[in-house]
Amino acid sequence: MLVFKFGGASVKDADAVRNVAAILAEYKREQLVVVVSAMGKTTNALEAVVDAYMNRSSDLADKLQVVREFHEQILDGLGFEANHPVRTEINNVFVEIDWVLEEEPSRGYGYSYDQIVAQGELLSTRIVSAYLEKAGYANTWLDARDVIQTDNNYREAKVNWDTTTKLVRWRIPELMKKHNIIITQGFIGATSENFTTTLGREGSDYSAAIFSFCLDAQEMTVWKDVPGVLSADPKFYDDAVKLEQISYHDAIELTYYGATVIHPKTIKPLENKGIPMRVRSFKAPQEKGTSIGNYQATKPLVPCFIFKTDQILLSISAKDFSFIAEDNLSRIFSLFAEHRAKVNLMQNSAISFSICLDNDPHKVPTLLEALGRDFRVLYNDQLKLVTVRHYYPSTIEQLTKGKTILLEQRSRQTAQVVIRETY
Ligand code: ASP
Ligand code: MG
Repeated sequence: MLVFKFGGASVKDADAVRNVAAILAEYKREQLVVVVSAMGKTTNALEAVVDAYMNRSSDLADKLQVVREFHEQILDGLGFEANHPVRTEINNVFVEIDWVLEEEPSRGYGYSYDQIVAQGELLSTRIVSAYLEKAGYANTWLDARDVIQTDNNYREAKVNWDTTTKLVRWRIPELMKKHNIIITQGFIGATSENFTTTLGREGSDYSAAIFSFCLDAQEMTVWKDVPGVLSADPKFYDDAVKLEQISYHDAIELTYYGATVIHPKTIKPLENKGIPMRVRSFKAPQEKGTSIGNYQATKPLVPCFIFKTDQILLSISAKDFSFIAEDNLSRIFSLFAEHRAKVNLMQNSAISFSICLDNDPHKVPTLLEALGRDFRVLYNDQLKLVTVRHYYPSTIEQLTKGKTILLEQRSRQTAQVVIRETY
């Protein structure tokens, strides 16, 4: 059994969907679970719908109309007749969204977000499944919410592995008896009470890993618009090279530090079962891409860079001149957890504690306010955090030449520096 994941860019318009069908046609004889994200920028567009709904904004209907027209255009582009059943399926999704929008938004932002935003994946998989069918490729559409069970931590739901494993192992082989290929959604799940949840932005990779884990898949493939995993984001670094192979360990570290090609939660379940993962280009499906697996070392073994912009560095000290010791630290961490702020780098001295994090306007101001009640907090913003794995001393020198370094940390394999951004 193979598990494929196609991201938003791979289904961003009618041509892209045709390309996905062409790739899948090569695997007709395989048992295949295909996990698909929302089309193009649909998730962002649905987030705008949620905001308009929560703020009771007058442009709510317009915001939703944008999403509807985008999908109708793709249906037109794929040549679906006005009376094709997929048109009704798509309409039904919008009816479901309307129902949510008619309720008062009294159950909180996270709940509403998940009920609305998850519809993007339901739309995309309906369309992909119907198109494959039309192209002569019989398949089964599966509602991922029937098998991926989570808690009710909306927007960042935690998977209930026991139940999910049972459900996946029971449903998928049963469905495979009918057709070799199953089309399902990334990013979404449901609580035991059947409320829709999402697994965190860009979570479709993680969904594919969940299916792979539960099914003991032979391999998982993520199809992307890049040739594989690169040693750096070419936006920030000119000499990026494609990596042929990456050890699980390196992959976990790189994604943890913010390499955005793969969702950070993806690798662990695969590593646990020794399932290899490949990142391949849907634009050049004949290429091998990058393989992540049980390798001794990453190849080629070059420095890998992760750049995070718009960072803020907090320096926290106690108001009563006490040391930053266990009790203060646990208070600081619980505030971070409460505000769902993720620590990118930290360092402590006797009297102060420094933390670098993304300067998220939805989180940082309220976090600063809460911290300020108990602590003295100073901060620097507009910073860049660069993480280098497999660095040489000269790599760091080059990187920081002429820049102000605010914080630096090195272990044997990984160096991290916080520098002032230059514009
Ligand atoms: N559609 C979701 C997002 O854009 C999930 C994903 O693409 O992985 O975040
Ligand atoms: Mg995506």
